[in-house]
Amino acid sequence: MNSYDTIIIGAGHNGLVAAAYLAKKGKKVLVLERRDIVGGQVVTESFGDGFSVDSLHAGGTLRPDIIKDLKLASFGLGVDSIRKPFISLQADSDPLILDADPAKAAESIKRFSEKDAAAWPDFIAFMEKTSVFIHAANETIMPRLPRNFSITEGYGLAELGLDLRLMGGTDMMRIIRGIPMTADEFVDEWFESDVVKAAVASLGIHGLTLGVFGAGTGYALMHNWANRGGLSHLSVEGGIGKISEALAGAAKSFGGEIHTNAEVKQILIKDMRATGVVLSNGEEIAASNVISAADPKHTFLSLVGAMELPPEFVWNVQSIKMRGSVAKVHLLTDGKHGIPEGTVALAPSIKYLEKAYDAAKYHGISENPYLEVTTSGEVVSIHFQFAAYKLKDGDWKSEGAKVEKIAIDTLAEYFPNLKSSILNKKTLTPLDLEQTYGLTEGDLNHGQLMLDQFMFMRPIPGWSNHKTPIDNLYLCGSGVHGGGGVSGASGRNVVKVLK
Ligand SMILES: Cc1cc2nc3c(=O)[nH]c(=O)nc-3n(C[C@H](O)[C@H](O)[C@H](O)COP(=O)(O)OP(=O)(O)OC[C@H]3O[C@@H](n4cnc5c(N)ncnc54)[C@H](O)[C@@H]3O)c2cc1C
Repeated sequence: MNSYDTIIIGAGHNGLVAAAYLAKKGKKVLVLERRDIVGGQVVTESFGDGFSVDSLHAGGTLRPDIIKDLKLASFGLGVDSIRKPFISLQADSDPLILDADPAKAAESIKRFSEKDAAAWPDFIAFMEKTSVFIHAANETIMPRLPRNFSITEGYGLAELGLDLRLMGGTDMMRIIRGIPMTADEFVDEWFESDVVKAAVASLGIHGLTLGVFGAGTGYALMHNWANRGGLSHLSVEGGIGKISEALAGAAKSFGGEIHTNAEVKQILIKDMRATGVVLSNGEEIAASNVISAADPKHTFLSLVGAMELPPEFVWNVQSIKMRGSVAKVHLLTDGKHGIPEGTVALAPSIKYLEKAYDAAKYHGISENPYLEVTTSGEVVSIHFQFAAYKLKDGDWKSEGAKVEKIAIDTLAEYFPNLKSSILNKKTLTPLDLEQTYGLTEGDLNHGQLMLDQFMFMRPIPGWSNHKTPIDNLYLCGSGVHGGGGVSGASGRNVVKVLK
C-alpha cells in the first residue's frame, strides 16, 4: 500500500493551499480530487467552442501573503491591479457607478444623495479597517469553546480582542455592533439613499440564504467585502482557474502529488485514529494524517460514518445549516450584449433584495431575482439568487430552464440587445453545484455564514480548530473557521495545528 505523511481530500483552493505549505515543509503529500480538474469552485471551464467561463466564483484573489509565500506569480498567477467598478442597475435612471476610486464613486452617488456622496470616502476607509480585522480573525485558530477554556487555546481570540480594542473606540464599537446587525441596519448607519444602501447591502446576502433583513448579514457583508477586497470583483488574468493552477503548480514543485478523478469513498479509521483512505475504485492509500477539504457534512456523515463518531457530535454535524440557493447562468454571445465591464448588480432597493429572498424562504425560485453579472469578452455570467436547493414544486431536472429564462428576461430589460446576441447557454442549478462540484445542498460556503456557525462555532461548537474527534483527521475547507469564500485562510491555518 502507498503511504504518505498527509492525504488531502479535495483540490479546492483551500486543499491546494494546505498541500503547498505542507509540501514546502518537506512533507510527503497527496491531494485526491474527485473531478478531472483541480480548483473546486475556483475553476475556469469550457462549455463549448469559444465558451470558456469562470464557472462559479467570478473573480478575486488569495491573501497576498499566501501568493508571496508560495511564489504563485512564478506559477502563472497574475491579478489585475485595476479594480473595475461596481455598477448598480436602476430601472428609471442611469446606473449608480461605484468606482474603486472613492472620489469618482462619490460623483455618481451625488445624483442620489449629496449626503451619501460625502459619507462614501469615510465608509470605504472604515470597510478597509474592517477587512484588516476580518482577515486577522480568519487567520486566528479558534479555541474549542465550550470544550476547552485553556489560556493556550484562548490566546489567539484574546489577541484578536486586543487588535479590535487598538482600532479605537468608534471603529471597535461599529464592528462589534455590525456583526449581529442586518445588512439593512448596517448600511442605514451610513447612507440615506435606498439605491446606495441596496448596492452595498447586496454583498451581505451574496451566497447566503438570507435576506437583507436577516440578523447577521451585517457580518456577512464585512466578511464578503474583506474576501473581495471591496464591492466589485478583482479579475484574474486568464480566468479564476489560474489561482488553482498556480497553487497546484506550487504544490507539485515542492514535491506534492495531485491525483484527479480520484474520489475518496471512505476515511479509514482504527481505534479512533485516521489511517488513510479508500477510493471509489477500491484502492487503499495509507497516511499518518488525513485532511478533508470537502464540506463537514460530507466528510463526517459520508466519508467517516456516524458509527465511528460520538452521537452528540453526529447530531451537531447533522444540524449544520447547508442551504444553497444560488444558480449560475452563462451566456456565450456575439459580443453585442451591451453589458459594461465590471461587477453589474441588479439590487435596486432594499425591499427588492428582501423580496428576492422570499422565494427561497418558501422553497421556490425568485421571479425578480438579485443578480450579479460579470462579463469576459463575449461571455456573460449571471449569478442568480434566489433559487432554493429544496424546491416545493418541481425538481432541478426541469426547473433549470426556468432560472435561465428569468435571468435572461430580467437582464434584457436593462440590455435590450442581450437576447439577440446569445449563441450558447449553460445553466448551473443548486443541484449541479451538489452533483458536479461536490457541495452538499449546493451550499457554496460549505455551511451557511450565519452567526451560530461562525468563528468558534464553525463548523460546530467545540471543534473549530480544524481537529475532529478522530485523531489525525483534520478539516481545512470553507466549512471550518477561516472560510468561506476565497482567501486560502483555512487551508493555511490547518498546517499550523497539524501534529
Ligand atoms: C456562484 C458562486 C459565487 C461565489 N461568489 C463568491 C464571492 O463573491 N466571494 C467569495 O469569497 N466567495 C464566493 N464564492 C464561494 C467560494 O468560491 C467558495 O467558498 C470557495 O471557493 C470554497 O473553496 P474550498 O477550497 O473551501 O472548497 P471547494 O472549492 O468547494 O473545494 C472542495 C473540493 O473537494 C472535492 N471533493 C469533495 N468531496 C470529495 C471526495 N469525496 N473525494 C475527493 N474530492 C472531493 C470537490 O470536488 C472540490 O474540488 C462563490 C461560490 C459560488 C458557487
